[in-house]
Amino acid sequence: MKKDQVIALDGPSGSGKSTVAKLVAQELNLIYIDTGAMFRAVAYALQHTGIEFTKSKLDPADEQKIQDFFHHHRFQFAPQPGVLVQLDNLNLTDVIREHHVSRLASQISKHKVIRDFLAHWQRSIVEDRPAILDGRDIGTVIFPNAVVKVFLTASAEERALRRFEELKARGQTEHDFQSILKDIKERDHEDMTRESAPLKRAVDGLELDSTGKTIPEMVQFIVNLWNERKGSL
Ligand code: C5P
Repeated sequence: MKKDQVIALDGPSGSGKSTVAKLVAQELNLIYIDTGAMFRAVAYALQHTGIEFTKSKLDPADEQKIQDFFHHHRFQFAPQPGVLVQLDNLNLTDVIREHHVSRLASQISKHKVIRDFLAHWQRSIVEDRPAILDGRDIGTVIFPNAVVKVFLTASAEERALRRFEELKARGQTEHDFQSILKDIKERDHEDMTRESAPLKRAVDGLELDSTGKTIPEMVQFIVNLWNERKGSL
């Protein structure tokens, strides 16, 4: 079967995916697609629709409302340097990092109508170009024929600590470590137990535990895999 020239980097929140993916992309000259940012952008956009995303199933009227929204608005990924995601003319790069958007992103992401839209958007950015995508279901659903599939993990405590430091560095000091840990555990649970494209390692994916590993070590691991396998494309 033909492989896609794609690196699928999946894993839970805070495992270091985006840092590693960015560096791998630079080193190998690949397009980098942060799919979490895309989910966050959609979550941000849908937050004032009045739809109750916490319920397990949306009714047809809600689904129609969402389809209409997608039809009437334009999302763009990296339309220009310095802009990660854009909704119509609005640059969402900074607002999608706010804490409440993380929660909302994991709530909206369990609904199929939304995942289908995101799947189409992700594949349409890649087209046939070599790319690295980080997310939750890249190796299992979006690009099941990716030439490299890595599942990046770390303990919930380690991931919470990283998130805590990241928020602190951004001046968001109102969140304490325990509440971030609780939030990470809840998001893990939501991501792993949802019916549509749950977070899990692809059967043919390699698990890479980032605990105690440096960023350059993880980058090198993935770069080596790509270099070994791209000959088979
Ligand atoms: O990766 P990040 O934390 O930015 O993603 C935010 C949320 O979006 C995740 O908690 C997850 O629920 C959802 N997501 C997803 N599939 C992806 C990327 C993100 O379900 N490929």
